[in-house]
Amino acid sequence: DDDEDEDNDDIVMLERKIRTSSMPEQAHKVCVKEIKRLKKMPQSMPEYALTRNYLELMVELPWNKSTTDRLDIRAARILLDNDHYAMEKLKKRVLEYLAVRQLKNNLKGPILCFVGPPGVGKTSVGRSVAKTLGREFHRIALGGVCDQSDIRGHRRTYVGSMPGRIINGLKTVGVNNPVFLLDEVDKLGKSLQGDPAAALLEVLDPEQNHNFTDHYLNVAFDLSQVLFIATANTTATIPPALLDRMEIIQVPGYTQEEKIEIAHRHLIPKQLEQHGLTPQQIQIPQVTTLDIITRYTREAGVRSLDRKFGAICRAVAVKVAEGQHKEAKLDHSDVAEGEGCREHILEDAKPESISDTPDLALPPEMPILIDFHALKDILGPPMYEMEVSERLSQPGVAIGLAWTPLGGEIMFVEASRMDGEGQLTLTGQLGDVMKESAHLAISWLRSNAKKYHLTNASGSFDLLDNTDIHLHFPAGAVTKDGPSAGVTIVTCLASLFSGRLVRSDVAMTGEITLRGLVLPVGGIKDKVLAAHRAGLKRVIIPQRNEKDLEEIPGNVRQDLSFVTASCLDEVLNAAFDGGFTVNTRPGLLNSKL
Ligand code: ADP
Repeated sequence: DDDEDEDNDDIVMLERKIRTSSMPEQAHKVCVKEIKRLKKMPQSMPEYALTRNYLELMVELPWNKSTTDRLDIRAARILLDNDHYAMEKLKKRVLEYLAVRQLKNNLKGPILCFVGPPGVGKTSVGRSVAKTLGREFHRIALGGVCDQSDIRGHRRTYVGSMPGRIINGLKTVGVNNPVFLLDEVDKLGKSLQGDPAAALLEVLDPEQNHNFTDHYLNVAFDLSQVLFIATANTTATIPPALLDRMEIIQVPGYTQEEKIEIAHRHLIPKQLEQHGLTPQQIQIPQVTTLDIITRYTREAGVRSLDRKFGAICRAVAVKVAEGQHKEAKLDHSDVAEGEGCREHILEDAKPESISDTPDLALPPEMPILIDFHALKDILGPPMYEMEVSERLSQPGVAIGLAWTPLGGEIMFVEASRMDGEGQLTLTGQLGDVMKESAHLAISWLRSNAKKYHLTNASGSFDLLDNTDIHLHFPAGAVTKDGPSAGVTIVTCLASLFSGRLVRSDVAMTGEITLRGLVLPVGGIKDKVLAAHRAGLKRVIIPQRNEKDLEEIPGNVRQDLSFVTASCLDEVLNAAFDGGFTVNTRPGLLNSKL
C-alpha cells in the first residue's frame, strides 16, 4: 500500500507539473489526455510505465527554456584565437558567420559544415562557437546511423521505444537553443528502416523544423532556435540533398611546425592538467615533440599526437607518485616509534634506496626530462622510420601523392616485369579509374619507346613483347582511386624500362592523357603537406595547379621545390637525375623525321 501511495503522490506531482508547464497548447492537450488515462490504468499494465515515462519526458523537455545569446564579435575572435592555433581560414569564416547572425538576428541560412581529416579541430571549433554564444553544446554522432528512428524516434507502441537523438539531446542540455554538432554526416548509412538523411533534412530545413515531429513524442517541437553545425571527413559521401543545405568549409591538415606549436600551446598543457601534473614536474623539449610527430605518428591532424602525450603523462605520473610515496615513507620512519616498527621500515626502505638513490637525491621540483631515450622507454621503438630512400634503391619504383579522407599521403608505386605474353597485372585495392590510368601510361610509353630508348628485357622497343608487367600500389587498406596517379605510373614504368633510378626525393601527382599531356588534379595542399611530412624535397604538379600553391604555408614552400609540368616530357625530366633526355642518336632522329 505504501508503494501505491507513493506512486499516487508521484502522479499528483506529475499532474501539477503538466499544469504549470509552458509547453505549447497541442502538447499540453496530449498530456492532459494521457494523464487521465494513466490514472485509470492498473499499475501492473506495461502501458502504465510507458505512459508515465512519456509524460515525464514531456514535462522535462525545454519547450520554452533557452539561454540568452551573448554575442560579441571581438570577444569571439579572441576566444577562437586563444583556443586554436593556425586554421586562419576556418576562424575567419566562423567569425563572418557569427557577425551575419548578429546583424540579421535569425538563423535561416546555410548550415556550416567543417570538412577535413580527423583531429584537425573541427569538433573543438564547434565547441568554441557554443562558448562564444553562451550556448549549451551537444554532439550527436551520426557515424553508422542507418535507421531513421535514430533521428526521429520510435513510435510509442512497445516497451523500450525511445525518442530520437535530437529530442534526447534537447533533454540532455535542458534548453531549446543549444549548438548541436552533427558529427560525421558523411558516414550516415542507409537501410530498410528508412533513410536517416531524409529525417535529418527535415531537422535542418528552416521552413520545416519549427514543427519537427519526433515519432515518440508525436507532437511538434520547435527546433528553429537550435544552431546546427556539421562535420565530415569528405564531401564525397554526404547525401546530395544534405550537401545542398550546407556551406562547406575545408579544414586542411597541419604542417609539422604547426603541430609543434599546437602541441606546446594546447595539447601538452591540457594533458598535464588532466593527469594532475605541473610543468615543474615534466619537461618536453620541442625536438622531442618533433620526434613524436615524425617517428611515432603519421596523420594530418593531431589526435594520435595528443594520445602520445597522454601516454607520456601517465608514465611520468607513476614516477612522480612513486617519488612522493618514497618521501612519505622516509618521513614516516623518522617519526616512527617502537623498535619493531622501525626495523621493519628500515628493511623495507633499504633495497629501494640503494637502487634508486639518484631519484631520492633529486629535489622534488626537478622536472623529468623527456628526451629520445625516455621516449623509447615509454612509447616503444619508433613506428615510422624514414623509409623513402631505401625503397627507391631499384628501378621501377616512384612516389605518388594521394588524397584520402584522412588527409594526404605518399604512395609508392612499384613495377616489375617478367617473361609473359603482354599481360598487365594490377594489385593494391585499386578503383576503375586508376586501372585506366595504368593502361594509359603503358600505351603512352609504348608509343614513345623509341623516343626515350625504352626496351624490354631482350632489347626490343616493343615493350610488351614476351613481357608481362605487374604494377603494385602497396600500403594501406583504403581503396585508391582517381586519375591523379597517372604521372607516377608513367614515371615508375619509365624507370623500369630504362633501368634508371627515380630521384629518391621526388613525389608527384597529375592526371595524364593518351597524348602525354598532364591535367590538373585536386587536393594539392594536403598532398604537398604529405610530401613535406615524408621529408621529400621536390614535388611535381600539373601546370594548371600552380595557383593552388598559394594555399601552402610559407615555411613548407621554402623547404620544397616545385616543378609544374604540362606534359609528360617535363615530368620525366624532373623525376630523373640529369633529366630523362630524349635520345638524340642521329639514326633515331632521322627515323622520326
Ligand atoms: P576533429 O573534430 O577534427 O576530429 P578535434 O576537434 O576532436 O578534431 O581535435 C582533436 C584535438 O586536437 C582536440 O583536443 C583539439 O583541441 C586539438 N586541436 C586540433 N586542432 C587544434 C588547433 N588548431 N589548436 C589547438 N588545438 C587543436
